[in-house]
Amino acid sequence: MKKHNFNSGPSILPQEVLAKAARAVLDFNGIGLSILEIGHRSTWFVEVIEEARSLVKELMQLSAEHEVLFLHGGATTQFMQVPMNLLDTGETAAYCDNGIWGSKAAAEASLFGNVQVVASSKDKNHTYINKGFDIPANSRYLHLTTNNTVEGTQWHSFPVTDVPLVADMSSDIFSRPMNFNQFSLIYAGAQKNMGAAGVNLLVVKKSLLGKIKRPIPAIMDYRKHIDANSLLNTPPVFAVYVALLTLRWIKKEGGLKEMERRSIEKANLLYATIDSLPVFTSHIVKEDRSNMNAVFFLSDPKLEAPFLELCKQEGMVGVKGYRTVGGIRVSMYNALPLESVQAFCDMAKQFAAKHG
Ligand SMILES: *Cc1c(COP(=O)(O)O)cnc(C)c1O
Repeated sequence: MKKHNFNSGPSILPQEVLAKAARAVLDFNGIGLSILEIGHRSTWFVEVIEEARSLVKELMQLSAEHEVLFLHGGATTQFMQVPMNLLDTGETAAYCDNGIWGSKAAAEASLFGNVQVVASSKDKNHTYINKGFDIPANSRYLHLTTNNTVEGTQWHSFPVTDVPLVADMSSDIFSRPMNFNQFSLIYAGAQKNMGAAGVNLLVVKKSLLGKIKRPIPAIMDYRKHIDANSLLNTPPVFAVYVALLTLRWIKKEGGLKEMERRSIEKANLLYATIDSLPVFTSHIVKEDRSNMNAVFFLSDPKLEAPFLELCKQEGMVGVKGYRTVGGIRVSMYNALPLESVQAFCDMAKQFAAKHG
């Protein structure tokens, strides 16, 4: 049976990216060797990582001040690595608490300096995005999570401030054009919208670095990675290659503008359907809804189990809400076709007709 992949991460990738990645495991570009068995300093791999870095710069239209790195680990590694590089002992960083990932990031930063939570949506179960809050001028940076993967909210505009903006874009990277140069640092784990788990994309303004007195272990030091052109040690070569294939696919399909057009089309269809069926309830403030992860509930909690059972029967994969939130979560990343959302909506309507 055809599977509709609504997984929240690791998640759906374009079929042609998977096919090309599979081929490269056996024979990379016809060289008679696997992508997994060539040196990371060989011309073959250096060309892979250089093309990936330049495609990131091109798609995001980054200024010359911004450096692009591919680093080991997941976004959780960056929760620690960001303050290790930017926040000295005794200094203060401002954090937005709009969900589980932002609050984990804040907890890690407090190991390095002072954390001030300047905005929190905890009072209403993270069903909205804070607006118009104060950011103390002495903050070293303001950290926010552009898309709250678990809670289903997304920032659709950003604070204007002289304090450097740091953003975790793990779950909406490359899903929409924006002025990426307003951010001093951007990071994203690859496995939501960009590729295979194991690698982080990091974009950083060089002028932000080198300001703290605390020694930084070499492998954690952004400056050392910049000086080594993202080849300080062996990078996760396969994950970088899959990211390159995805970046090429995004460009070929029409870039971030087209990714945004598709994701708005998918999200509009999904939300319009849910809103039209009283059997479902969404608690998220409409203007703050995520175009990537739609989170909603069965109005009668007793219907959740039968609905999930129907999803299973119909090949709708990954729609159970996050364990601390519950309900339903439909993730609609770049590679998810509109047909999958249509199939989900048709199924939801049939379910509503039977149980409404
Ligand atoms: C998935 C996710 C994380 C955690 O990523 P790991 O790669 O598991 O460390 C962090 N932030 C956001 C926004 C996420 O969606």
